[in-house]
Amino acid sequence: MRTYWLERAWTGSGPVRSGLLVDVEDGAFVRVATGPPGDADRLAGLSIPGLANCHSHAFHRALRGRTQRGRGSFWTWREQMYAVAARLTPDSYFELARAAYREMVAVGFTSVGEFHYLHHGPGGTPYDDPNAMSHALVAAAADAGIRIALLDTCYLTAGIGSPPEGVQARFGDGDAEGWAARVETADRACRGQPDVVLGAAIHSVRAVPRDQMAPVVGWAEQHGAPLHVHLSEQPAENDACLAAYGATPTEVLAEVGALGPRTSAVHATHLTDRDVRLLGGSATCACFCPTTERDLGDGVGPSRALKDAGSPLTLGSDSHAVVDPFEEMRAVELDERLSSRQRGHWSAAELLAAAAHDGHRSLGFDGVGRIEVGARADLVTLDTASVRTAGTGADDATAVFAASGADVVRVMREGVVVSTSEDRRAVGVELDRVVRAIWEET
Ligand SMILES: [Zn+2]
Repeated sequence: MRTYWLERAWTGSGPVRSGLLVDVEDGAFVRVATGPPGDADRLAGLSIPGLANCHSHAFHRALRGRTQRGRGSFWTWREQMYAVAARLTPDSYFELARAAYREMVAVGFTSVGEFHYLHHGPGGTPYDDPNAMSHALVAAAADAGIRIALLDTCYLTAGIGSPPEGVQARFGDGDAEGWAARVETADRACRGQPDVVLGAAIHSVRAVPRDQMAPVVGWAEQHGAPLHVHLSEQPAENDACLAAYGATPTEVLAEVGALGPRTSAVHATHLTDRDVRLLGGSATCACFCPTTERDLGDGVGPSRALKDAGSPLTLGSDSHAVVDPFEEMRAVELDERLSSRQRGHWSAAELLAAAAHDGHRSLGFDGVGRIEVGARADLVTLDTASVRTAGTGADDATAVFAASGADVVRVMREGVVVSTSEDRRAVGVELDRVVRAIWEET
């Protein structure tokens, strides 16, 4: 057993406390109490629970700084993204994902939800192990020291009624039954690994026909697994859905029974009032990815209205244009300010809870995201004397409105230190090497 004395701590609820003693045994907190440090290991600064990155496409990390150079839209960005997808093999994806996950760990993420659709080899030919790509991602997460919810994604069509095109052949399993059969074999490999959750994803109403959604929903139901889906990120998706089905994407998901507390609607940007009621009334999580939505020009979703209707907020870095949980948190509030021209929609504590406990629960990691007896012992410690955080009060507002990922000095997951500020340079070197290798491949 080890004892830590936290100079300042936000435990998951209530105000920030000073002088918190925590005992850690077998990867869990077994005592949490205020008191003098004694001979405990002292952690200066502000400590918070481990954070969950609930929406990741690991390979998009290779696009940072490259897709932002020109003009264009979501759809031209997608062409560049596909160019990377076309190059990856299980070996190169392992290396890229491991580096991307190490960057996440360095800024305080202790779990990732990987929305994974790059399943097959060139032309859609399955690998000898049809889950080779999934296994590469799980191994990459293990090496980086991050939990992974592998959200195995069903992706069948280029658009409603149109077959996969080009690199999309690598994403598809023919039909939802084919998807379920493949995932069942992945499930056997992942079972029994406490750091791995196998979940399901419907890519979007664009990529999964309405009559193919039920097997995916059924698989998630049968396994009690998280179910994630991209929802209404772009108006064009809504228009195509209305034209094909006479219903919004949210209404289609509601019809097939896809909404509920195990489900996360990713983006949830362009919604009708009825969509908000359907999502909130079913307690479906709303997974916002503000730095990506900003980068792609998606728009600003109704985060507060969704929360008030009953949808827990969670956060993801999605395309990894930015990997910084503090930037994602404050962006939710700041984007609301821009669109409403009013301040004060979200408190700092609410945003921290979204990134910590609610995020973990949406990935199927229960008992993570709070500093309390019985919870997994994840601790993220921030420097409260950096040029960004000095003089800001060392409280929850410091974390959300002043800090950046660069202020994270130590990350512990289940009692094991998985990143310190000294490791950061090596993560940069590794990212540089693997991203260059992807682009230099011919
Ligand atoms: Zn996404």
